[in-house]
This record gives sequence, C-alpha cells and structure tokens, in this order.
Amino acid sequence: MIDSPKHKGKRKKLVEELISKGITSKRVLNAIYNIPRHFFIEYDFQDFAYEDKAFPISASQTISQPYTVAFQTEKLGINEGEKILEIGTGSGYQTAVLIYLKTEVYSVERIFELKRKAKTTLSKLKLKPKKIIWADGYLGFEEKAPFDKILVTAASKEIPQELLKQLKINGKMIIPIGDLNQKMILIKKTDANNFEKTDLGSFKFVPMLKKII
Ligand code: SAH
Repeated sequence: MIDSPKHKGKRKKLVEELISKGITSKRVLNAIYNIPRHFFIEYDFQDFAYEDKAFPISASQTISQPYTVAFQTEKLGINEGEKILEIGTGSGYQTAVLIYLKTEVYSVERIFELKRKAKTTLSKLKLKPKKIIWADGYLGFEEKAPFDKILVTAASKEIPQELLKQLKINGKMIIPIGDLNQKMILIKKTDANNFEKTDLGSFKFVPMLKKII
C-alpha cells in the first residue's frame, strides 16, 4: 500500500470537513492530515477511507468515524510526552493519532486478530506504540498506571471503576457510556475519590465486552 498526493488531497478535504463540524485543535487536525487512514481500512472500503464515516473492520468491529477520533482526542487536551491508555485498539487508527501527538501509548484490545493487524499497520507506518496489549480493557493496564489520559473507544454501561483508579490526579478520561443510547462523558479526577463529569452529547460505539477472544 502507498500514500499518494491523491490521498493527501482527500485528507485536506476531510480536515476542512472536520473544521466545519467544530474541531479546532491544530495539532489534532494536523495528525489527521498526515496519517493515511486508508492503511487502516479493509480492501472493500478503500475508496471511502476519507469520508467522515465509520466502517466495518474484522471481527464485526468498526473503525471510528474521523470526527469521533478528532473529538475524543481534542477533548482530552493531549500534551506531548503524556502517558495515555487507550481501550479498544481496533484498527489502530486512533492509536496512530495519539502516537503522532508524541505521547506514550498503551492500547488494550480484547480481540487477538485485531491486535495483531493493528500492530502490523502501525509498524508499516513507523508509528511506535509503547505496547498493544491483548486483554480485557475493563481491567486497564495496572503495570503502567497511573495514566495522564484514558481514551475508551467502546461503550460501557457504567463507568469502569478500575479505569478511574488508574488515572492520575488531574488526569482525564473520555468514554462513551450507555447501552443503545450512549453519551460521551469526560471525567476529570480532581483527587483520589472525586471526579468532575461532563456530558458531551450522543455518540454510537460498539459495546465494551469482557470476554477475550
Ligand atoms: N479506535 C478504534 C475503534 C475500534 S471499535 C478504531 O478507530 O479502529 C472498539 C474496539 O474496542 C473494538 O476493536 C473492540 O474489540 C474493542 N473492545 C471492546 N471491548 C473491549 C474490552 N473490554 N477491552 C479491550 N477492547 C475492547
């Protein structure tokens, strides 16, 4: 697979579309402009890689819509050098955006096949996560906790308590909460047992499931 000026042109349009939808972070927009999303997309959907849409990937999962990736990343206010935990590696596209922002990324995926593919795609692009972990994301990744930021890309019915524990004081987590009707919740840990929660509106994600396959 190659990245070409034609792809770059399509990404420029995508960035303009994201700006029109309210994304403002220059750093996030720059990452989206530079990362070839078509590398993360199945063969059948290649031509649509730069539409602002989610698409199916292996194992009945989806690659998130670029707007959602940009939105979650922007709301976390990611700074260079931060230690980030991502739950739900999927295609690895969101992981790529985080790595592009010069962070240390630990990403957890429950489906082995997806973890394997994401690792391959990221290494083709010379984007290096700290680690991609095949495990249940409800448990976080205690070995490297606490984290500056936690970004969850699958919907949980309730806020996973273990993830709150693994957040630094003043750290932030963004997670879609709910069953059919999901709300994007931004959580700031103000001290060990206190959290500020903000509802950022409705989104649609695949469910967060415990079983590792
Ligand atoms: N950021 C990804 C989104 C993938 S969809 C992308 O843009 O490609 C959400 C992912 O979360 C799926 O790959 C799914 O397998 C994974 N997932 C669901 N429950 C999980 C859990 N408990 N632990 C880790 N990963 C989980």
